Amino acid sequence: MLTTKDQVVREIALASLGEAIRGRIKQAPTSDEIARYLSGDCTGVFLGPSGTGTSVWSYARNAARRQRERLKVRWRWCEKKGEMAVECNGKGGAGKGGGLVIVPPRARSQIIYRLRVAGQNYYLDSLLSKKDQGKVYALASVDRASNHFLRNGSFTRFADWRFVHRARLDVLPLNGARRWGDQQDTRCRRCGYTNETLSHVLNNCGPHMVAITKRHDATVQRIVKNAKLPGEIILNKSAPEADAGCSLLRPDIVIRDERSKTVTIIDVAIPFENGLDAFRVAKEHKLQKYQPIADSLQEKGYKVYLKAFILGALGTWDRDNWAVIKHLPIGKRYAGLMMKLMVFDTIRWSRDIYVEHVSGQRQYS
Ligand SMILES: [Zn+2]
Repeated sequence: MLTTKDQVVREIALASLGEAIRGRIKQAPTSDEIARYLSGDCTGVFLGPSGTGTSVWSYARNAARRQRERLKVRWRWCEKKGEMAVECNGKGGAGKGGGLVIVPPRARSQIIYRLRVAGQNYYLDSLLSKKDQGKVYALASVDRASNHFLRNGSFTRFADWRFVHRARLDVLPLNGARRWGDQQDTRCRRCGYTNETLSHVLNNCGPHMVAITKRHDATVQRIVKNAKLPGEIILNKSAPEADAGCSLLRPDIVIRDERSKTVTIIDVAIPFENGLDAFRVAKEHKLQKYQPIADSLQEKGYKVYLKAFILGALGTWDRDNWAVIKHLPIGKRYAGLMMKLMVFDTIRWSRDIYVEHVSGQRQYS
């Protein structure tokens, strides 16, 4: 209203605004005082209680005051140009040296967009400053598969939805995850381990081992069900034909085809997403562990394909899984659906483990 092209509306608005301020400071306001009033300034002539009733101008003043911290929003009177402009936090965010932008009356159509960007920047800066909350996202942001449910919630129960975001930000209430207050007892409430972190609960806590194994087996089952490779499928047993020295090594899936003399060995791991390296470490560990089987079979003339299949405990998908899927070979169309189901299975199991951990109530039958 203060900057519209319609002169009549503009003058009425300005007069009504001047009236509202006069009621407050008991004199005709200067242009600078108008800007300060609209910005929510509480110093100088605006010190003390408002006294006068509410109006559209007092609403505008209160709105500016509420958003001053977040959006750095302020009205400014420019003496030289004789115009009233709005200033707010600029693009790129304060943390990136974006600085302030000034929206003059001739750019009035941009004001909503500018305020929205300032709001986004505020929340972005606030999130980026919480360094300990980026661990999971370092991995979850690599492949969009890990976030396929974010926009539409497909294959996700409401309970999982409520769980997974807090879990990925590491803000679920646990003894080992207190950020303020006195450092109290951080021990695990179920097994007594020294630090009850989410990674302990979902991957290492003794009482949950049955569910942790079921979570792992859900992924194994989906691979086995859909693998199209010819040959005999051997689950969780030492590979036949391998040396006796390998008898204690029991990979999750072995597919042996005698006709082509090929053996495929796949082992599934569900590590916690502890930073960017977590998947690489898990993979190396698996490959190293089963290499003796591969060596022994190769000596006997088999072609060996040894791979790890990795999913994060919070539903993060490892890109290298696509190569395994291609080897099996699972068709492109179904592979996309299978990926979603695997991400869903893993989140569901992790949610059930966590809820049982804090409530003591069994979540699965
Ligand atoms: Zn425990």
